[in-house]
Amino acid sequence: MIKVFSNEDVMCVEGIVEKSGLKLGTVYSFLVDGMVIDTGPQCLETDLIPFYENHSFELVTLTHSHEDHSGLAPWIQENKNVPIYVHPKGISVCAKPCPYPKYRQMTWGVRKEFNALPLGDVIQSDSLEWKVIYTPGHADDHVSLLHKETGRLFSGDLFVSKKTKVIMNSESIPVIINSIRKLLSYDFQSLFCCHAGYIQDGKGMLKQKLDYLENLSGEVGKLHMEGRSIDEMNQLLFPKKYPIIAISEGQWDSKHIISSIISPKSYL
Ligand SMILES: [Zn+2]
Repeated sequence: MIKVFSNEDVMCVEGIVEKSGLKLGTVYSFLVDGMVIDTGPQCLETDLIPFYENHSFELVTLTHSHEDHSGLAPWIQENKNVPIYVHPKGISVCAKPCPYPKYRQMTWGVRKEFNALPLGDVIQSDSLEWKVIYTPGHADDHVSLLHKETGRLFSGDLFVSKKTKVIMNSESIPVIINSIRKLLSYDFQSLFCCHAGYIQDGKGMLKQKLDYLENLSGEVGKLHMEGRSIDEMNQLLFPKKYPIIAISEGQWDSKHIISSIISPKSYL
């Protein structure tokens, strides 16, 4: 199911993935000034293809290559004949058919291969220029897009929630902290997050996330100095066990938050 609404001249396409009445996830695509930002997942193609058929756009920019953002890119490439841009590090991922594990295929569908073009430092939509800001941490091909004049920021999956409790083993909290600091050095107000949607006080929310992650890093550092093991710290800091940990066979886990803070070098 998709819901379409507008905020600050941005068409927000909220994609809701459900199976047997159970909500598995929400992911947003956006259409602004003739540019699609992220395409939504393949499993929502029955809803998303009519949307793309009925709206005109000249280009697609992906905030990163993950399948919930790039799932409709192969269809758009075949049917709309518009360029699709991604950070240079994402091009080889986009060229592979379905380069992600089974549990993610079950949620987001099977994304076919497609040819993406490399993003530079800026990207031009119909009448606006967007700054492309490299913001790794969630994924190493992750970018954010900023329209300076209106203070609108598209932050892909860098924000998602104020209090991160589980991450994938490929993610890194110290790298995410650096990317958030980089974004906060720019002037902006609103945030368009691919999972939380439109956030009017985006800068304030992103600051709160930074505070949370910095405090958490401080606590982990202290416990580490006291000689606590990763399992002990995990029990202490994240007593709740989220279903995604079992579903992903540990690819998602609170433990990865702790280990990425303790040994940041291995992630950089
Ligand atoms: Zn992602």
